[in-house]
Amino acid sequence: DPQNIGDIIRHQGREIPDDVAFEFEGDLMTFRDLDRRSNRAANALASLGVSKGDRIAYLGKNSHLYFEIMAGAAKLGAVMTPVNWRLARPEVAYVLNDCQAKVLFVGPGFAELVGDIEGQLEHVAKIFGAQGPEENFASYPDWRDGFEDSDPLAECAVEDDAIQLYTSGTTGHPKGAILTHGSIFSSRMNDRNEDELMEWQKTVPGEVALLAMPCFHISGTGYGLGTIFSGSKAVVLPEYDPTQALDLIENYNISKIFMVPAAIQILLNHPRIHEVDFSDLKYITYGASPIPLELMKRAMEVLGCGFVQMYGMTETSGTIVTLDPEDHVPEGSPKMRSVGTPLKDVEIKIIDDSGNTVPAGTIGEIATRSPKNMKGYWNRPEATAETIDADGWLRTGDAGYLDEDGYLYIQDRVKDMIISGGENVYPAEVENAIYAHPKVADVAVIGVPDQKWGEAVKACVVVKEGEELSEAEVIAHAREHIAGYKCPKSVDFIPALPRNPSGKILRKDLRAPYWEGKD
Ligand code: ATP
Ligand code: MG
Repeated sequence: DPQNIGDIIRHQGREIPDDVAFEFEGDLMTFRDLDRRSNRAANALASLGVSKGDRIAYLGKNSHLYFEIMAGAAKLGAVMTPVNWRLARPEVAYVLNDCQAKVLFVGPGFAELVGDIEGQLEHVAKIFGAQGPEENFASYPDWRDGFEDSDPLAECAVEDDAIQLYTSGTTGHPKGAILTHGSIFSSRMNDRNEDELMEWQKTVPGEVALLAMPCFHISGTGYGLGTIFSGSKAVVLPEYDPTQALDLIENYNISKIFMVPAAIQILLNHPRIHEVDFSDLKYITYGASPIPLELMKRAMEVLGCGFVQMYGMTETSGTIVTLDPEDHVPEGSPKMRSVGTPLKDVEIKIIDDSGNTVPAGTIGEIATRSPKNMKGYWNRPEATAETIDADGWLRTGDAGYLDEDGYLYIQDRVKDMIISGGENVYPAEVENAIYAHPKVADVAVIGVPDQKWGEAVKACVVVKEGEELSEAEVIAHAREHIAGYKCPKSVDFIPALPRNPSGKILRKDLRAPYWEGKD
């Protein structure tokens, strides 16, 4: 049985050579292509001295070549680090130096950025244009074609490093999470027995998935690896675009997509949304940030497909908990406030400040243990020790609780919790209440310094186009839905919320002006 990324690609190259693994801008890559070209990539990288444990990096929008290069590295035991292309120059330099990448692949549009920071890169010995020549950088495909397609057959164990993904940096500096071959594939490998898969996890022959989320995030990389593993075809978009997504759904028999809630919201607001036939679409998986119940209900009504919510993080190789289609009901249900139940082989517990497990219904920090957990943070032994304990339990930094049926409810980031007058207020709950107001397009809730309460709840509201809304109306609306101490004491009206590429609200940016010199 395949034990690592290289083995899986060899296996698919042998078993389903002519099936299409990836389609990108009209270019088709079969599983045979993926297997052979990744051999060439491995031999090419080896010629530069890249070997087991070395890091290489990719800075660019999504492309099928990202997966090919990653597979080539994996066949040597080397480690791909995709870099968030939305980062500013100093941040890109930081990540490239932090991961110590020896070779860098640059996608279209990023050669100038890299040229500007090249002098600061301490470890990068060679830079290629990922899809072709880019300014001063030679073409990766041309270079790779000059090497043999023989398999380097490097030894690779499940506990070896496979991919280094940086966290989203929602709460602080992005940290490099080391995912091993085992952590990426373990749950899927144990689940290879088709009978044990849930309906939405099964691969139907000929199925086409849409990869629209960024590969520098676990949602993109994990999704692409998932389609490789299941042997289905992924149509890759360079980046999420609702118009293209709708076109593909209509004309390409797309049956599965992963989207973050912000992407679902953009899709639903598209002018063509009511003209598109969604009958081929079977499942939308979604997650990475909370979804307002109202948005979920609207998505179910308009799109009419099955929905699966996923909860997880970079440090857990993605999804560890899912809310399955059966738990999504059109009229809404209490379980829809949860993120569902743990996947097979995943343990979840809720702990208090001293690390003791608390009973069902009690809020604490969510901790998890499974083969999906990362090995640790790259070059950060202290952060690793704070996150993973001796028994292998990983602290998620999320606050939440389990109900009597074992469903997990996310309250919020532990760091985002507001303590107002001694009471804990979780922004997500307040946001959900305010979001239900028909004139509200978007909302984020933060704590601001307050003489009397320590922290006071503030709502930052984006009003729907053409509508008017007052502070008093927002507060009065919240009062009808949640306890008085959770209601905002003040409201800021802003044109748009700051979000990171995975659609997460950057509450730290909203908080900053109020906490200057006080935090
Ligand atoms: P950083 O760790 O750098 O601050 P980040 O935590 O946002 O950034 P990711 O690993 O991309 O980086 O995100 C994981 C987090 O996303 C989880 O800890 C959780 O807070 C949030 N999350 C993931 N899935 C869900 C979900 N279904 N519902 C609510 N929140 C979710
Ligand atoms: Mg995190």
